[in-house]
Amino acid sequence: MAERMLKFVTVPQAMPEKRAAEARRHDFGEIYRDFAQAQAASQASRCSQCGVPFCSVHCPLSNHIPDWLKLTAEGRLEEAYELSSATNTFPEVCGRICPQDRLCEGNCVIEKGFESVTIGAVERYITDTAFEKGWVKPIRPRRERDASVGIIGAGPAGLAAAEQLRRRGYQVTVYDRHDRMGGLLIYGIPNFKLEKSVVLRRAAQFAESGIKLELNCAIGTDITLQALRQRHDAVLIATGVYKARDIGGPGSGLGGIVPALDYLIASNRENLGDDVPDFRSGLLNAAGKDVVVIGGGDTAMDCVRTAVRQGAKSVKCLYRRDRANMPGSMREVKNAEEEGVEFVWLAAPEAFLGETDVSGVRAVRMHLGLPDSSGRQAVEPIEGSSFTLKADLVIKALGFDPEDLPAMFEEPALTVSRWGTLRVDHRSFETSLPGVFAAGDIVRGASLVVWAIRDGRDAAAQIDRTLQEKQALAAAAD
Ligand code: FAD
Ligand code: SF4
Ligand code: SF4
Repeated sequence: MAERMLKFVTVPQAMPEKRAAEARRHDFGEIYRDFAQAQAASQASRCSQCGVPFCSVHCPLSNHIPDWLKLTAEGRLEEAYELSSATNTFPEVCGRICPQDRLCEGNCVIEKGFESVTIGAVERYITDTAFEKGWVKPIRPRRERDASVGIIGAGPAGLAAAEQLRRRGYQVTVYDRHDRMGGLLIYGIPNFKLEKSVVLRRAAQFAESGIKLELNCAIGTDITLQALRQRHDAVLIATGVYKARDIGGPGSGLGGIVPALDYLIASNRENLGDDVPDFRSGLLNAAGKDVVVIGGGDTAMDCVRTAVRQGAKSVKCLYRRDRANMPGSMREVKNAEEEGVEFVWLAAPEAFLGETDVSGVRAVRMHLGLPDSSGRQAVEPIEGSSFTLKADLVIKALGFDPEDLPAMFEEPALTVSRWGTLRVDHRSFETSLPGVFAAGDIVRGASLVVWAIRDGRDAAAQIDRTLQEKQALAAAAD
């Protein structure tokens, strides 16, 4: 092993080539090119094969990172794929969009000055190669089971559960109110982070695996939760969180002030070739406009970078804290800056200006005060510091809360936390309704794809256990 690995001293860290900002500003293609095999092998060989791999400890899926890095360095890619897909339903997605700087790579212990192993890029390379070479096969369970599971929500949590349950032989149907599967992977996250062909090729594998999809089907409207419980032996709720946090104040009802997800969905649909009237009319299109995005998370970063690609005249991001305190990934901030986005740190909107449509945002400077009980510094406006930004499109990206699920599903017995997330037993993933489980953002609150995958997989294991116990009890009673 020694001669193949531990090369961090002699081989410098290298990401796959990043397209020049000027070129990528004009299209929605992913910004990183693919690793060539020799590059992936040489980057993987930088790993020092730690006895206690902190990269894996800080990966929500506990991926066997050093093992598949070693297999990649040795050119044993099919085995690397087998191992990486054993713990992750979507390694090709996580390799692209996990905030690796905060998870695996941020905890790589390669000595200071040598920089971490590029784990995400290698993970992506392994699975992209597996798809290319035809190693990714439809699921063929060893034995079929009669029991069926209905899953509400075709996002990463619901799909990860579907994959795990199908592997165990269950009959699985996934219901989604949208017309495509993928949840935020298809309609939230833009192409330049995750090309849609990557999601659609997984959709094809799922269909060939016998996982049934009922699209354009909103539970609570088209079918009741109660009917679903009668149809299936167990139900998993994986509906994500979609109630956009709003902003009030003078002028907040003016035209041209739009919620982030409406804007991103329109852009993603347009890129998928759909006819999107609100994009065509210009309402959800930044072309030629002065754009102000309010917020500092991943959603705000996706909006500013989408606006650049749509041909906005100027794009500014208004965030009430500073760079060090922003929730979005630093890598994304850097990408946005390279692409020409201007960040207005420590500033919050006071009023929206204009007659019928917005023409500007009056903002006030903020300063960071003492930390509150949660340890986060409070923000306070600086008196007399108001200034105006020109804007004919304002995008609100202030985060998301859960919809009112007990009302939506007409199930008052479904209990929720004070934040509106579903309450589950944290070991069994079961909600207050017997046989109804929940996973992903709807339990955790707005989080990350990798955590949704983890929760979906864990919930599937618990559903399997519950259904097997039920079957054993029924057999004993016969
Ligand atoms: P979702 O992905 O939201 O899927 C839920 C699904 O349930 C949806 O398809 C929805 O249509 C469906 N649904 C809801 N209600 C019903 C109903 N009543 N009937 C039928 N179907 C229903 N995370 C990262 O790790 N990296 C990133 O770069 C990143 N970028 C992001 C960018 C944006 C713009 C946003 C909004 C989020 C981003 N996230 C990112 C977070 C990540 O997308 C979510 O944490 C993850 O998708 C949650 O998965 P989920 O399966 O719980 O829910
Ligand atoms: Fe890193 Fe995410 Fe892959 Fe885990 S799943 S190894 S955190 S990129
Ligand atoms: Fe390799 Fe870094 Fe993980 Fe150690 S922490 S096993 S060096 S990737």
